[in-house]
Amino acid sequence: MGVTSKEIRERFLSYFEERGHRRVPSSSLIPAEDPTLLFANAGMNQFKDVFTGREKRDYRRATTSQKCVRAGGKHNDLDNVGYTGRHQTFFEMLGNFSFGDYFKKDAIAFAWELMTDPERGYGLAAERLWATVFTDDDEAAALWAAHLPKERILRFGEEDNFWSMGETGPCGPCSEIHYYQGPDPGDPSKNSAKLVNGEGDTTMELWNLVFMQFERDASGKMTPLPKPSVDTGMGLERLTAVLQGANNNFDTDLFRPLIRGIERATGKAYVGGMAVEDAPFRVVADHARAATMLIADGVRPSNEGRGYVLRRINRRALRYGRRLGVDFTAPFLPSLVPEVAEIYRGVYFDPDRPADAESLRAVAATLRDEETRFARTMSVGADRVGEEVERVRRQGETRIPGEAVFRFYDTYGIPLELIEEIAQDEGVAIDRPGFEALLERQRESSRASAKFAAADATAFERLELPDAHSVFRGYPELDFVKLDGAKVVGLVKDGVPVSRVEAGQIADAVADRTVFYPEGGGQVADTGVWTWPDGEAEVLDVQRPIPAVIAHRLRVVRGSLAVGASVSQAVPEWVRRRTQANHTGTHLLHAALRRVLGTSARQMGSLVAPDRLRFDYAATTPTTANQLAEIERLVNEEILRDQPVSKETMAMEDARRRGADMFFGEKYGERVRVVAVPGFSTELCGGCHVGRTGEIGAFKIVSDRGLAAGVRRLEAVTSLGAVELLSRDEETLNAVAAVAQTPREQLPQRWQETQERVRALEREVQSLKLKLASGDGGASGETVEVGGVPLVRRIAPGLSIPELRNLSDTLRSRIKSGVVVVGTAHEGKTSVVAAVTPDLSGRVPASRIAARIGKALGGSGGGKADLAQAGGKNEALLPAALEEAEAALRELLGEVA
Ligand code: ATP
Ligand code: MG
Repeated sequence: MGVTSKEIRERFLSYFEERGHRRVPSSSLIPAEDPTLLFANAGMNQFKDVFTGREKRDYRRATTSQKCVRAGGKHNDLDNVGYTGRHQTFFEMLGNFSFGDYFKKDAIAFAWELMTDPERGYGLAAERLWATVFTDDDEAAALWAAHLPKERILRFGEEDNFWSMGETGPCGPCSEIHYYQGPDPGDPSKNSAKLVNGEGDTTMELWNLVFMQFERDASGKMTPLPKPSVDTGMGLERLTAVLQGANNNFDTDLFRPLIRGIERATGKAYVGGMAVEDAPFRVVADHARAATMLIADGVRPSNEGRGYVLRRINRRALRYGRRLGVDFTAPFLPSLVPEVAEIYRGVYFDPDRPADAESLRAVAATLRDEETRFARTMSVGADRVGEEVERVRRQGETRIPGEAVFRFYDTYGIPLELIEEIAQDEGVAIDRPGFEALLERQRESSRASAKFAAADATAFERLELPDAHSVFRGYPELDFVKLDGAKVVGLVKDGVPVSRVEAGQIADAVADRTVFYPEGGGQVADTGVWTWPDGEAEVLDVQRPIPAVIAHRLRVVRGSLAVGASVSQAVPEWVRRRTQANHTGTHLLHAALRRVLGTSARQMGSLVAPDRLRFDYAATTPTTANQLAEIERLVNEEILRDQPVSKETMAMEDARRRGADMFFGEKYGERVRVVAVPGFSTELCGGCHVGRTGEIGAFKIVSDRGLAAGVRRLEAVTSLGAVELLSRDEETLNAVAAVAQTPREQLPQRWQETQERVRALEREVQSLKLKLASGDGGASGETVEVGGVPLVRRIAPGLSIPELRNLSDTLRSRIKSGVVVVGTAHEGKTSVVAAVTPDLSGRVPASRIAARIGKALGGSGGGKADLAQAGGKNEALLPAALEEAEAALRELLGEVA
């Protein structure tokens, strides 16, 4: 690899140190006293006040290698990472600074010498370098002209080549050095001006020199600074990529050990050379570095600010980890922390110092916590989003609809960014406006009902109501879902009592009697209609803003509604019947749960709606499938017994004596209503229930899962809901049976048979491929002798990397001593495995052979002494690259190639 990143960093700092610059340590990634900045993102951050003159130092020249993070905030390269070879979230910026000391002339002279001088600097080829200057910066252009031909000095506008600290303050033109990394630098059609500041890594920006020349005031006027300054920044990773001939930041010593760590942790092989399928490796490696450095500097994962960005970085790494097959049963990211520390040994860490070792352990522990959290929520979340992505694709669409996004967000609690990221990675978009509309609607409705309960309460207190009002008549044994001749006794509009509301308006109405159930005890509010001779209103919501009052939020559709009017009220019968079935079902569930799980399975909350019931209960261990089946059976038995459900209002004391269970979080008056299923369940409850348990029809548990520490949530359906569930399942089953052309009862057996057949076929294909490749079936290849060492070469098209390794093993086991080199082109990439018998691995290490082959492939290669791997993208280079093995072998054996 030649020069190391440590030497490159050191050369930069000592070059400037020798030229009168103070070597200043990197500042923390958390900017000191600068709340406007998320993370340190440039070398100049820590000198901001020195540049403006607010702070004085005893030096006027400085040089640093600054830790930077560009994720979240204004500078955000997060989404680039993994897909370009030149962007990291965490990187180091090398810089030299002049605080009113030297200016353009020296800055450019230093930069040029350092870049190109083979003795004092890095010795880069001048023919690969380009300079850019600001549109009208003739001075800088003239300075570059001393070193570079005119055609390689390019002018760019504000966006690329003008820098300012903020709206006001120091600003000025920049001048950048770009580097061409492609082949044939002398060929102007390849090494072309178009690539500078263009797409891709071929020509990339290495170094930015900022000339702080002006001071801008609030009106935008720029006056020249009496003592202009210089601020420069060059990415260490990019410079290292160039100097190590890697062509991308990842195939350098700043990443390779870490990537090897990922290979060990996942058992997957990294190809190198920006191979498309390596993206997960690159993302995980980058993010592991960033997370380690951020946590070491004191950032902790959270849901806002810096902590949130850190959390996003972690989660992205974990999601990409999943793609490498990681299941997080064992620590994953924490296992990479030592690799990161090793890369920065002597720079940012000394892993042998107890204090550093301790802080690295803390980093690993923090990462482990995040990982466990993630694994718990994300496996469900990611899979749900994944299923939806597949559905969308199957329908030939390219966008996840807003309702689905909202469901993931609202029901499953998956952060929007995450949904977006998963979708993006899978190449589909999300309907963001649709999602936002739903979110807004939800906010509005919660705002509206919150007002209902709290702010409007005073309006209801001020209403002059008759003695008898808000009498609830909606129990099945009373008027149930229909009532004629109810009298409107009060109207409130926008928080003010009124005597009349008109069509199109929304208001809250109080009646002397009502069949509409106000939300309470877990049961949702009834909805329905009010009608009167020449008018109609929709009931949207029903609440008790103060305990004595049942207020109906309604929208007048037709006519006008006045205090004193007589109205007919109607709740749709089956909506209410289903709600009742679910409510009594909830009581039976509660009782059954306590019988099966014990009385510690306390109720923590419930929701009774027409289409489903939800029950949260205390539990420290997951409820087993057997327990759930037992609960379901107990409830259904009570239903089939068709027991009468009794409801009695009595004194609190009497209810207690009967052993009534109290509803969680509910307040009870002196007189309470007791709802009981004889011998099975007794609860205090004001809700609507069936007359006999038989009306519930059937009870089916749909899901049971952990909700929070110590709390589980069970969801179930009853009545028509259970019938609907049954027919949905049946449809699915019929569809499967039709596709499989198998009767339903035989599906499991058929499925198993098919799976076994697939496995047998896979085994057969595998062994055929191997046979073909190892020569028994005739793959192209040969065996030669190089300096007395047998060299077996084979090209076997279409093998995966594990298969290629297998083949190299087989071939190696056939020779006593020698070298095996096998190559394949598979799914758009070429891979080569080099294997050496143990007796030779010292003299001719496989890693060295693979490195040479990697170069010839236009990619890279490396590995261990007995087994190594190389890869590239161009299939056409494969035969020539295998030829290289011979040259490599000669060289290693000391013969002249
Ligand atoms: P680019 O346009 O290539 O993203 P930039 O204009 O954002 O670069 P500057 O803000 O000028 O870069 O930063 C100075 C130097 O820091 C760059 O020339 C480059 O070498 C390095 N650099 C910037 N961003 C990154 C990054 N995300 N990862 C690695 N190095 C970077
Ligand atoms: Mg950038």
